[in-house]
Amino acid sequence: MTAAMTKITHHLTDALLMAYSAGTLPEAFNLTIATHLSLCDECRARLGAFDSVGGALLEGCDTVAMADDSLEATLARITGATPAAAPRRKRVEGLPAPLADYIGGSLDAVKWRPVGMGVKQAILRTSRDATARLLYIPAGAAVPDHGHRGTELTLVLRGAFRDETDRFGPGDIEVADESLHHTPVADIGADCICLAATDAPLRFRGLIPRIAQPFLRI
Ligand code: ZN
Ligand code: ZN
Repeated sequence: MTAAMTKITHHLTDALLMAYSAGTLPEAFNLTIATHLSLCDECRARLGAFDSVGGALLEGCDTVAMADDSLEATLARITGATPAAAPRRKRVEGLPAPLADYIGGSLDAVKWRPVGMGVKQAILRTSRDATARLLYIPAGAAVPDHGHRGTELTLVLRGAFRDETDRFGPGDIEVADESLHHTPVADIGADCICLAATDAPLRFRGLIPRIAQPFLRI
């Protein structure tokens, strides 16, 4: 997927970019945000502004008195240390780099598990304070209508979906919170694959999804 395919029209909020820059978000959110950033020049530029504000704030802090030899000690550590090897990024065709590290292969190799109504998911391994999952919504199918107890980020990787608020295509990210109740429906023309991160269980209206959700961690 390339961002040039379609124009991204749904972006990260300032609050999320600020929290990402400050490093205060759960891993599942960082993954989803990093994946959007890898596709979106606009949000990368906005992040740059927040990063420099954070740096300026740090510089404004009171300095701590250092030992006389601290400069030499630091230099010795720098010159003496062997540089850490840069993490090897697996290059996977058609997959944003931040996500490729978590999937370990292409989207076609993902082991999907049924969620119901034809929708499938694959939970990615992240810290437990939030959950990251790939969602597979067959063309024309719907995710059961639900509300949110916390924040839900949904980034479109393939295809498109529509809900009560708008249409979301490749690269678009939807930021949902307690105020939104929605029923995402994949476009008729193509199956939709999304990366979704949640920090609290969803609020389903239907009985069957409510019974199933502890098993699905959704
Ligand atoms: Zn963006
Ligand atoms: Zn939702």
